[in-house]
Amino acid sequence: MDRPNILFIMSDDHAAHAIGAYGSQINQTPNIDRLAKEGMRLNNCFCTNSICTPSRATILTGQYGHLNGVHTLVDKLDGRHDPQIQKLLGNAGYQTAIVGKWHLGHGDNNDPSGFDYWNVLPGQGDYHNPEMIEMGTSKRHEGYVTEIITELSMDWLQQRDTSKPFMLMCHHKAPHRPWEPSKRYERLFDESDIPEPSTLYDDYSNRATAASAAEMRVSRDLNSTDLKQEPPKHLEGDYLTAWLYQRYIKDYLRCVQSVDDSVGRLIDYLDNENILDNTIVIYTSDQGFFLGDHGWYDKRFIYEESLRMPFLIRYPREIEAGSESDKIVINNDFAPTILDYAQLSIASEMQGVSARDVFAGGDPNGWRDSLYYRYWMHRGNNNHNVYAHYGVRTQSKKLIYYYADGLGLAGTGDAVAHKEWELFDLDQDPQELVNVYSNEEYGQTVKELTEELERLQVEYRDKPEH
Ligand code: CA
Repeated sequence: MDRPNILFIMSDDHAAHAIGAYGSQINQTPNIDRLAKEGMRLNNCFCTNSICTPSRATILTGQYGHLNGVHTLVDKLDGRHDPQIQKLLGNAGYQTAIVGKWHLGHGDNNDPSGFDYWNVLPGQGDYHNPEMIEMGTSKRHEGYVTEIITELSMDWLQQRDTSKPFMLMCHHKAPHRPWEPSKRYERLFDESDIPEPSTLYDDYSNRATAASAAEMRVSRDLNSTDLKQEPPKHLEGDYLTAWLYQRYIKDYLRCVQSVDDSVGRLIDYLDNENILDNTIVIYTSDQGFFLGDHGWYDKRFIYEESLRMPFLIRYPREIEAGSESDKIVINNDFAPTILDYAQLSIASEMQGVSARDVFAGGDPNGWRDSLYYRYWMHRGNNNHNVYAHYGVRTQSKKLIYYYADGLGLAGTGDAVAHKEWELFDLDQDPQELVNVYSNEEYGQTVKELTEELERLQVEYRDKPEH
């Protein structure tokens, strides 16, 4: 059988709970939903470090940050590092391209490496009239970034060598902060308010101090660039928080709407070219995001809204339409899975496994029942103030250790903070509001999960700090 094409569409900070197919209560995404209707929805797909740059490095290498060198936002991926998915595919006769957000460094050895074609935003890039770097040459493009990335992606598809299979990574900037919508959607949601999440007014009681220490509160930490207008002077307390939430979430969702349009245009393009069914189409995001959940915007924490990645995959040759899976899949698995589909062996240095059987509806023997997570960027280089932590999540429990130390890594804050543990019973407390670590009833669970955490650190060759 012909080797399939791969269209990997990834947005930036798009939480699963802002996607119709994941049961969104706050917006509609008909085009992204089409991938769920015609393919599979993963219910438990997780990133292993909930922040942009490290997640992107993990997706390309299949490795955790301590092996690929990308721990924090200020680290860069060395183009000479192996393995990288695009190099392996390229060596095997695939045409490879990346268009849009790169965010893994520029110049020297940090530009995209091993892609036949690349055209990327410098750093975070701009929403309007963005500069892009095409194979080392900078050019300013007029228009809205999500539409430009979509069109440049289709331009590349149009001129590709149709005798070879391709992998195109279409990486959107949206809906990343500062959430600037396109003209087309700037009035969307003007007529009505967006429902508030039930934890918008969280007081962080019954949690480790890390939760209350974090500086990413909708009620307090959004800046004037985020807000784009001054809050009404008469508002205070919860009334002000409610206003700030609407201001934030509406712009976020307006940005999502353009991403949804992009997915529709790309699917239609493949369909018109008669290559849709021979192309594996994936939609995901580099991590989740707090949409006012726990009173926050941003990500970083191992908590559910931030940890969970949306992941939808369409490939009718192997994947049943309208299917879903609860298996734990991690972003380290993406590269191994793509290699498997391309009929290539999986690089032994990769720290993920192929999920191809999971996607086919199978129940692979020995599939993981826990995942290992590590957030290194202690205190976030003096913003966000999220403490360094690692942890393990199973299908029903989550154990977290805040070792709260930057360990001298670039991009971390100097001050060591309070070291503490959290345990959440996700069946009883899916919103993670009550830390039961010191609850006697959970003594055995703490013991088992601590052992599991240590086992995973050995397996992935990471070093414990507890
Ligand atoms: Ca991100």
